[in-house]
Amino acid sequence: MQISVHDTGLTFLSDEGAVYTADGSGRLVYAHRGGWFYTRGLSGEIVAKKWSGPERIIRPASPREAADILESFRDLSKNASPGMVLNNQSSPSSPLSDDDIFQWIDRARRYDPDADAGKFRMTYQPVGILPPDQYLTVVLQLTEGCRWNNCLFCSFHKGQRFHLKTTDEYNRHLLSVREFLGRGLSTRNSIFIGEANGLPLPADEMAHIVSLSRKALEKELTGYRGLYCFMEPNSSPIKTREDFIRLKEAGVTRIYFGLETGSAELRKTIGKAGTLEEERRTMNAAQAAGISIGVIILLGIGGKEWEDRHISETLSSMQGIRPGPKDLVYLSPLFVDEGGPYARWEKTAGATRLSYPEMILQGHRLRNGCPPHFHLSIYDTREFIY
Ligand code: SF4
Repeated sequence: MQISVHDTGLTFLSDEGAVYTADGSGRLVYAHRGGWFYTRGLSGEIVAKKWSGPERIIRPASPREAADILESFRDLSKNASPGMVLNNQSSPSSPLSDDDIFQWIDRARRYDPDADAGKFRMTYQPVGILPPDQYLTVVLQLTEGCRWNNCLFCSFHKGQRFHLKTTDEYNRHLLSVREFLGRGLSTRNSIFIGEANGLPLPADEMAHIVSLSRKALEKELTGYRGLYCFMEPNSSPIKTREDFIRLKEAGVTRIYFGLETGSAELRKTIGKAGTLEEERRTMNAAQAAGISIGVIILLGIGGKEWEDRHISETLSSMQGIRPGPKDLVYLSPLFVDEGGPYARWEKTAGATRLSYPEMILQGHRLRNGCPPHFHLSIYDTREFIY
């Protein structure tokens, strides 16, 4: 066995070529073995990914697979010692000593996945979803669930009671997140204020929350990238450029908007709150304040019957939003919950569902219609883990 040390992770490389990485608290976060790449969330869930020819396979790890991965990680950590370090890429200004590395190995050795999952459940309500560039963030749940919770296609917060924390509750939550993540904070690089609408309060109160959050965490994170959130304009009191300037000054870096489609009629059909005009105005106000935006568009929404309108009306909406060089546009294939309201709508409306390759093709059509400077990429929600 060999060991590789970074500022943010300790990696065990087994003699068979498998790789296991632990964060600063000794918690397993990545594994690579048998041709599969595994990401393990703070909740203890594991997602398995690999390429099979041109196709990307993404699935939850089976309970047996997960247990096997944890057992192999435990065995390696038991046998590990600082003498096995092949490369030490920790910070040249404060390199980890053998003693530091021994302590780290010891934390991996003593890591108890069941106790950790229990602490996670004490710290967080279920985390519904994050943008794909935020999977190494620290989520702070200012709200739990989604106040609207009526979009037919969305099951991220189904059955979850909406709750907006008071400042006292939020302060306690901050402390418990810090305590739960412990030394694992150093593996994280941003803050994400959740959940479905991370801006539920007026600008001054939100700026206070943002400052509290940064003060509590920023110094502990490695290579801090900024503070992010989703926004649902219809249920947020943040409206004007001045509001967003206040947030920018407090430290908000990027806000993500679930536009879903640029067709007003399709948005109404799928239960989306608010109007396209409201979305555009809010995004433009954030951009004018110097906050970057992330726009999420669903691929396959409405089925084949809506496809041409979804593409052409989304493209014309994007002309009003005008994403700039700092902004992101995510194309997110729709995965339908078979027992959910969207599946029922499909039946009633006689909608024809697009296959995954057809959705990717729809993404190409959208991409081809956008100016070349737009940063478009696929947002596959099956990869989400926290
Ligand atoms: S507003 Fe967002 S989180 Fe809430 S139901 Fe709609 S898509 Fe889901």
